[in-house]
Amino acid sequence: MGKREVVLRIVSDTPPPRGVVAAGPVRELVPYEAVSSQRTIEALQGSSPIFKLDWNESTIPPSPKVQQSIVHHVTNGPGLNWYPELSSRSLLLALSDYTNVRPDQLMVTNGSDDALHLICSTFLDHDDEVVVPVPTYNHFVVFAQSKGAKIVPVQTENLFASNIEAIRDAMTHKTRLLYLVSPNNPTGVVAHPEMIEELCQDFPNTLIVLDEAYFEFSQVTGIGLVQRFPNLIVTRTFSKAFGLAGLRVGYLAAHPDILENLSRIYNPKSVNTLAQIGALAALSDLDYLNEYLDEVIESKRMLREFFAQRQGVEAWITAANFVVLRVSDVKDTLRQLEGLGVYVRDRSSYQGMEGCIRMTVGTVEQTQRLIDRLSKVFPER
Ligand SMILES: *Cc1c(COP(=O)(O)O)cnc(C)c1O
Repeated sequence: MGKREVVLRIVSDTPPPRGVVAAGPVRELVPYEAVSSQRTIEALQGSSPIFKLDWNESTIPPSPKVQQSIVHHVTNGPGLNWYPELSSRSLLLALSDYTNVRPDQLMVTNGSDDALHLICSTFLDHDDEVVVPVPTYNHFVVFAQSKGAKIVPVQTENLFASNIEAIRDAMTHKTRLLYLVSPNNPTGVVAHPEMIEELCQDFPNTLIVLDEAYFEFSQVTGIGLVQRFPNLIVTRTFSKAFGLAGLRVGYLAAHPDILENLSRIYNPKSVNTLAQIGALAALSDLDYLNEYLDEVIESKRMLREFFAQRQGVEAWITAANFVVLRVSDVKDTLRQLEGLGVYVRDRSSYQGMEGCIRMTVGTVEQTQRLIDRLSKVFPER
């Protein structure tokens, strides 16, 4: 088992001064205790190769061009004493090419988490109704709740099938915002552009936020719709397929009116210089990206075949770069996997996902070695 973080809470008898009490809605939130295998894995360096498959990051380093341009910049300047290029202008123009969206409909952010936060801060008031199909990416929910918004969860019986009807049923004229992740984390369900289009049309007063963190893997996107619908925001990231999770770069696409509103609190220097340079370099090497995407597709085929022949495990091979496994004893499976150097994400506490773990998919060569280890945990039929 991975070591649990020990969090020391200092409890004092005297109430804290008024000025250091969190604001209304934030008081209601529970501090986020991030669980990542990173620390455990770092402590194990030197033993047999480790599979860090718990956070859906790319399993290989980014394009070598990323490192080259960052090293070049650090060596040749302009120096890091200067603020970064404002609003990541050069990167934004390159993103316009990549996405086929006009530059005045794009905004670069410090990871897509930053985009989600910015959206909530700009558009959500106390008591606003926010519809969220669950299970979902929980950071968004926290950002929305910190503004005092009311979350209306939408849960369907089959978490791995389209939930459009249930979403429609949950929406009312009062719905301020709908948060959709496609492919969804952690279920992999894809929201098709026709469905997004209908929702934008039928709920013109609802802001529809489409989180496409895994777009590159599914190749299904609603981003083209931002030209036509003034109530749609699409967010994306360099953290997954591009392999730049450590740099923190994301972006959003939306109607210029939405951007005008967001820019009231947007910080144009929130993306650091090296992150901007790294993301630009990654965009300049789409061959590298596409090779990785092909590897992940082939790996998913191998895993589908593998799990079909195993007992005691049900597998969903998603349109993203992860699979969901349902096992009979999560704790025991996690213990066995960690014993073999395989770190995955426990998702069994999510309603409807009892017994489920999520596992990132990497390259073919990695998957071959992974399957060797998985064979020891999941016996043949
Ligand atoms: C990983 C992930 C993100 C986070 O992206 P960053 O750009 O690293 O902040 C956002 N949304 C979903 C659904 C994710 O899975």
